Amino acid sequence: MNYSTSINTVKQVSDDLYIITEAESIHCYLLIGSEKALLIDAGWGYEDIHPILRKITDKPVMLVITHGDPDHGLGAANFSDFWIHPLDYGKLLRNDTYDERKSMLDYRLKKLPSLASFINEEEYCNSRLHATAHFLRHGEIINLGNKHVECILTPGHSYGHLMFLEKEQGRLFAGDQLMDEHNIWHFSSSDEQAPFQITLNSLKKLKARINEINAIYPAHEKTPIEKRCLDELIECFEHELSSSYENDRPFHSPHGNAWQHLYKSVNLIYSDERLEEFLGHPVKHKQSL
Ligand SMILES: [Zn+2]
Ligand SMILES: [Zn+2]
Repeated sequence: MNYSTSINTVKQVSDDLYIITEAESIHCYLLIGSEKALLIDAGWGYEDIHPILRKITDKPVMLVITHGDPDHGLGAANFSDFWIHPLDYGKLLRNDTYDERKSMLDYRLKKLPSLASFINEEEYCNSRLHATAHFLRHGEIINLGNKHVECILTPGHSYGHLMFLEKEQGRLFAGDQLMDEHNIWHFSSSDEQAPFQITLNSLKKLKARINEINAIYPAHEKTPIEKRCLDELIECFEHELSSSYENDRPFHSPHGNAWQHLYKSVNLIYSDERLEEFLGHPVKHKQSL
């Protein structure tokens, strides 16, 4: 069956797992249990995906959001309830504005002009979250009937970043904190995103549980990814970054200028300020921003 639309591409991974990729940008995962289905992330919300969900499953769908960035959470505007870690709720609400929707939609349409005829821009930019927010705790288990999903708080890319580990088959839904060659942003100041040391602690705690993990599904680009991506990100923070950052290249984005650090599968976007806070001394790059 083809459940895709002009905006969302749907791929079936197995009989109980679907990837709904919105605007070639973000993967939302639909994991179907015997009693309930879990939707992990809601995307930008350029269209209401309920018709897609209803075609795939007749089970009630619980929406959980890995973190409060707009590409993961604004799609909750099409839902009546969602679950998020309390530390990221404020971030999501700050992104729930006309200007955020407008600027990011303009950026997306520049990349994918063909989408313009399928999105009602004014209606989208004027939409807002009306859903009831519920909070998830670290270690909480979501019961889907024949499968159980553990919420793992992984502060780093955001303070309230959650990963979701499906216990029976060891499938880890990793949000924006683990990627294979796709960029991970640690660019905002440490009052918005956690310091590298906190990120490293999260990654090491995850590494200690690696035997429970069989597959890793990130929110962007290549999916699933190999476990070595976790090892390589830990290596990067533990010693590799401090010895080679001088050669990093400038990275220009709609949110400002930063540095791009490439190491094996790692593609880290950061600022001088973030690195200095981590290393405890001033840093200097060979190139200038
Ligand atoms: Zn993010
Ligand atoms: Zn993202």
